[in-house]
Amino acid sequence: MPFTLHGIPVSRGIAIGRAYLIAPAALDVDHYLIEHAQIEDEIVRFRAALQAVEHELDTLRADLAADAPSEMGAFIGVHLMILNDVMLVQETIDLIRTRRFNVEWALTEQLERLSRHFDDVEDEYLRERKADIEQVVERVLKSLAGAMPPSLHGGCDEMIVVAHDIAPADMLQFKGQTFQGFVTDLGGRTSHTAIVARSLGIPAAVGVQQASALIRQDDLIIVDGDHGIVIVDPAPIVLEEYTYRQSEMALERRKLQRLKFSPTQTLCGAKIQLYANIELPDDAQAALDSGATGVGLFRTEFLFMNHKNHLPEEDEQFAAYRRAVELMNGLPVTIRTIDVGADKPLDAMNSGDGYETAANPALGLRAIRWSLSEPQMFLTQLRAILRASAFGSVKILIPMLAHAQQIDQTLDLIREARRQLDDAGLAYDPNIQVGAMIEIPAAALALPMFLRRLDFLSIGTNDLIQYALAIDRADNAVADLYDPLHPAVLQLIAHTLREAKRAGVPVSVCGEMAGDPSFTRLLLGMGLTEFSMHPSQLLVVKQEILRSQLKTLEKPVAEVLAAYEPEELQAALQRVAQA
Ligand code: PEP
Ligand code: MG
Repeated sequence: MPFTLHGIPVSRGIAIGRAYLIAPAALDVDHYLIEHAQIEDEIVRFRAALQAVEHELDTLRADLAADAPSEMGAFIGVHLMILNDVMLVQETIDLIRTRRFNVEWALTEQLERLSRHFDDVEDEYLRERKADIEQVVERVLKSLAGAMPPSLHGGCDEMIVVAHDIAPADMLQFKGQTFQGFVTDLGGRTSHTAIVARSLGIPAAVGVQQASALIRQDDLIIVDGDHGIVIVDPAPIVLEEYTYRQSEMALERRKLQRLKFSPTQTLCGAKIQLYANIELPDDAQAALDSGATGVGLFRTEFLFMNHKNHLPEEDEQFAAYRRAVELMNGLPVTIRTIDVGADKPLDAMNSGDGYETAANPALGLRAIRWSLSEPQMFLTQLRAILRASAFGSVKILIPMLAHAQQIDQTLDLIREARRQLDDAGLAYDPNIQVGAMIEIPAAALALPMFLRRLDFLSIGTNDLIQYALAIDRADNAVADLYDPLHPAVLQLIAHTLREAKRAGVPVSVCGEMAGDPSFTRLLLGMGLTEFSMHPSQLLVVKQEILRSQLKTLEKPVAEVLAAYEPEELQAALQRVAQA
């Protein structure tokens, strides 16, 4: 029976494929009591299924592509450990022996018990590991039923991941995989899970409430990533229509490739820089492939995720930064210092400092606030970035600054890191530039404090919107109020661009607004000349720039900024689009 679900569109395009449920909410199995004489046979059946799954996971690990993210191997390793864990295996066998449950019943009963235990665990990251146990149990159940679930690695290339939620760290494992789309119950347009999904360049919808409960394993589904629609079990005529639209879009994408080598300038000849946002060093390749003229935002926190009890050492970080810098081959690479917290928790942060229990993590010890509270960790990262600057063109970008003394402390620590490198005789770029993210409204309203002290600015619209409107960017319950076109947001952006220009300080936008072609003309008209976005968005934004003329944008953009009523604003935006 076909049905349609609605969510938030986060990554464009159409995906058609079979649902691959990660940790389905309900595991539907038979429940019956076995005879006493059947107990040993039932245990043999269980052990055979465990062995089959172990073999499957071993094969998956052995077949991992050489360039697969290291997290992928670690992820399979965790599943193997769970598979052999006494709590799962022995307790299930005990249930078969003592209660005479059939093995499927015993296994799901034991899963229930473990889940309850996990729900009580305070550590948020550990609590989320519940999903791993569910996935392992699901594999065993499938094996018992004689059908193995689709493999996580290189499986069918028409697979669409459906999940209740995926942590940004877990999302990383999908890089380099062959999934066609993503659907999650939770999330907002600029949640970091959505950002990573977008970086994979495949259609995705988040905040599709109940999707993981209503969609079943292997259901045929269509994900319309432009409208946030998921159609389950579509009628043949609908399928035909979407298949047609899918091929049209593929054609459009191929046509866009022609723009790759053309210089980015408006019709009137104004030169615009298009930079890439990356999460991992190897993403620099995608940046180059898209024609980016540099990396405008390297979100280094992703290097720190999936590290259980420690943070990466200086040499490990240095190697990662250097790799991105060398891949970019002389083009500028803006490396942002670690921005953890809110929807990007870090395993190694959960050290009893109260961080994980903060009532409002988005307002708590996040980003530079955490870095300044851990000066040794911060110095290590600064040294690693500085060392990478000897291999290309590097800039340092600091997230979430709002106070003058935070800027001063940060600059002091950068000086200290340089002194330490001098003492150790290690090379770095002595003219390295340091910039600030403008992503807290207070920062946008106190710009002279930044303009006097720093070399450049980068506007983080994702957080700027979140903090200006008091809307959690990851919460789908308030996603409709997360509005990049709210007059207050537009004023903050326009003001920042104007003041930075007046002071002669370079400024870019690296939030998701920069990669959304529907905002390109507006930002150009406000005076933006440097955009940083996911490589997958670069050509479509470029196309918009090539069609724009700054002179004709002036008047309608001024009208947008003077509009405070929704109808007035909409009308002015129309005029921007048609200018
Ligand atoms: C932003 O806030 O706009 C930004 C680019 O940083 P992040 O999305 O990583 O918070
Ligand atoms: Mg931010």
